[in-house]
Parts: sequence; C-alpha cells; structure tokens
Amino acid sequence: MSLITPKVNGTYVTATRCEGSYIFDSDGNSWIDGASGSIACSIGHAHPTVVKAMSDACQHTSFVYRTQFSNPEIERLSARLCQKLGYAASFFVNSGSEAVETAIRSAQQYWRERGKATKTRILSRRLSYHGSTIGSLSLSGHWPRRRLAGPLYGEPTQPTPYPYRAANKEGMTAYGIACANELERELQQLDADNIAAFILEPIIGASGAAIVPPAEYIQRIRNICDRYNLLLIADEVLTGLGRTGRWLAMEHFGVKADLVCLGKGLNAGYFPISAVLFSSDVYDHIANGSGSFELGHTHSNHPIGAAVGNAVLDVLEQEQLVERAEWHGEGLKFTLQELCSKHTIVGEVRGEGMLIGIELVDPTNWNNPFPVELSAAIQATQIAFESGLVIYPSSGFAGVLGGDAIIIAPPFNIPEQATKQLIDKVDGTLRTLSNSIFQKRRK
Ligand code: PMP
Repeated sequence: MSLITPKVNGTYVTATRCEGSYIFDSDGNSWIDGASGSIACSIGHAHPTVVKAMSDACQHTSFVYRTQFSNPEIERLSARLCQKLGYAASFFVNSGSEAVETAIRSAQQYWRERGKATKTRILSRRLSYHGSTIGSLSLSGHWPRRRLAGPLYGEPTQPTPYPYRAANKEGMTAYGIACANELERELQQLDADNIAAFILEPIIGASGAAIVPPAEYIQRIRNICDRYNLLLIADEVLTGLGRTGRWLAMEHFGVKADLVCLGKGLNAGYFPISAVLFSSDVYDHIANGSGSFELGHTHSNHPIGAAVGNAVLDVLEQEQLVERAEWHGEGLKFTLQELCSKHTIVGEVRGEGMLIGIELVDPTNWNNPFPVELSAAIQATQIAFESGLVIYPSSGFAGVLGGDAIIIAPPFNIPEQATKQLIDKVDGTLRTLSNSIFQKRRK
C-alpha cells in the first residue's frame, strides 16, 4: 500500500498547512516556499480570493462535460487570456504536459488543414523540458528524465543558448544568432516539408535554471520559422503569467509565438488547469477547415479550474503582482549576486523576475561542473530543506548529465521579512554545501 512519489530529499514530510509563502507540518516545523512548489504557486498559498472562488465554483457548477456544456467561468477565462495576451482562441487541458501535447497536435493538424500532411515533425532543443508524457518527453532534452523512459519519438537536436558556458562572453548577439542558425542548417538538411513546428522555452526553467538567451536568438528563430513555414510554439508552462516579470516571457524578446502553452502560472498550484493559446492564423485555418478541435480530455474546461484561473488573474491584476515579480525579483537577484560573489562554488546567478538560477561550479577545476556523482544540486536542496527552505534542483544540463544549479522562485508576493529569511538560508545552504564538499575531499 504505497503512495508512489519520487523523493528529491532523503527526508519526506507530510505537509498539513500552507499559508502565504510558508509550508507547515504537524510537528510545528515550517519551510519558506522558495520554489513556489514546483515553480507554480505564484500568488502564495491559501490566497482568500482563490479559496473563495474555488468554493463558490464547487457549489454552483462542480462539473459539466465540455461537449454539451460550457460554463461562465471558462468562457470568461478564455476571453480574458486571449484579450490580455493577444491571441485568438484558447483550449484548456489539465497539466503542462497535456498543453504541450495539445500544441503538438494542433500544429500537425494546422498543416493538414492546409493540405500539407507531411509537415508533422516537431523540432526541439537539447536542453529543455516539455513534460513527462511520451510526446512531450520525446521533445525534451532533459536527460535525467529520458534515461529510464522509452522508446521515445525522436530526440531534440537543436542547441539551447547557454551564455554562462559560451566561449566568447562579449559576443552574445553573434552567439545567439549562431545558435539560431543551427535551426536553418537542420531545416536545409531535413527538408522543411516534413517539419510542422519548433518548440522552445523562452527562458529555461527546470532543465537548466533560469537560462536567459540573447534576444537576437529568439528573434532570429522567429524569422527562420517564418521563412521555412514552421509554427513557433512557446512553452510558457513555467514562465507564463508573470514568473519572469512579464505576462509572457516572450515579451522580453519582442517576439510572438503561434501557439503558447500555459500551466503553472495559470493555476498557481491550486487546481490542475493548463491551456494552449492559438494565433488567429492557426485558429482560423482549423476553424474554417475541418472545424474540428478533437483535443480534449474529460476534465477540459473544468469549472473549478476555470474559477481558479480567473481568481489568479484577479489577484495578479489587483495586487499588481507581475510588476512586483519584476522589481522584487530584480532586487532579489541583485542581493543574491552580491551574496554569491563570496561563495566560490557559485559560477553565476541569473534569471528574470522571480525565476532565479544559481549555478554551482567546482572552483578547484576551472569552474567546471561538479562530478555527477556528487549530486551537488540535490545536496543543496537537502541542506536547504533541513534549514527550513524549499528550493528546486536542476541537474544534468551542462554536459553529458553534468551541471548543477538551484532555482529560487518564491511566490511573487513573498513579504520582505520572508525574503530576508530566504536570503539568509540560501547563504547558509551554500556555506554548508561548500564545507561538506571540500571537507570530504580533504579526507
Ligand atoms: N513545460 C515546462 C516548461 C515545464 O516546466 C513543465 C513542468 N516543469 C512542463 C512543461 C510539464 O508540466 P506538468 O508537470 O504540469 O505536466
């Protein structure tokens, strides 16, 4: 009678209460949620606006099936998202992985509707995470997660710009363009008549810890997609709805994707709801073609999820939390950069808004990644956990399974006092990790 669930930390705790930026257990222990769960709880736990909206939804329309009934909350949510983010239509599912699957299928259907049935393959990047279903994992360059799965449908082939490890740090524009040009090279080799779309996370989340590409990279990718007739899919499951200090992370680069996947930011951790946004071009070709969007799941358009989505938007708007994610995140990043300059095991502190990555490096080996066996990011997460701080580990991205970073991504409304505690605990975590690594080496 086991609950199957992976344990990142050796210890495993039953949480009995969550409030704001804190998680509590029944023994009176508490943790600062410095990772918003899995980078989801953007507005903190138990926000009264969301709690009320969920409870109201339960009482009014707890469930109706989408093929016969709509519901007011989902209609309102769709209209708000489309209007705010500049898209023509939306389709709702339940998880980030499902949103990615839905985007893949929509891209394939789009080309079929246009009489180009051979355009089916989706290209993706070697450093990425798009989900844990077979289709989304097939696109993911997340080697620790791919290892035990399969057979998968192909492999990611494209480079992901990774400025920290780029050879020439001065020439970021040229570096970004060179990375993007790899897509053009592959399209020339493969024949674009077989390719439906290219998918990317505008800012890397779980698979590399807040890696921000040069703007020219994303701009050039858009240009190549246009010239070779590929749809551009932005996987904003982690970044969408404010995490990086913009409603969409693509806004940092002034680029609009054809399909956008939303997830964590939309549900803020309260209820499983995710979405795909369609540009008018994609939507119109399907709507005016077969007119059939056979993409749904049993719980698509769930009224409680929809009520959560609307309440999350209300909170983000009324409390100006996307703006706060920008300025508070900038301040937090700056403080962490100053703090980490005295920790020799930190190579870089990076990110945008409330998505901050701290890359761990071996100062005795030219700042290369620590050996994989050391599991430095997991160790850091464990140390932080024991000190009452939840962070998110990211490992296996800098080389073949090497590379460690931790992600700091608290709720956008984390109070000043909790932010100070978080910073102190990050400091303590890095010190303990460093001592532990180097003491063991001296033995
Ligand atoms: N895409 C991205 C960018 C993600 O970060 C994640 C989750 N970490 C997913 C897709 C998959 O989302 P889910 O776990 O909700 O299926």
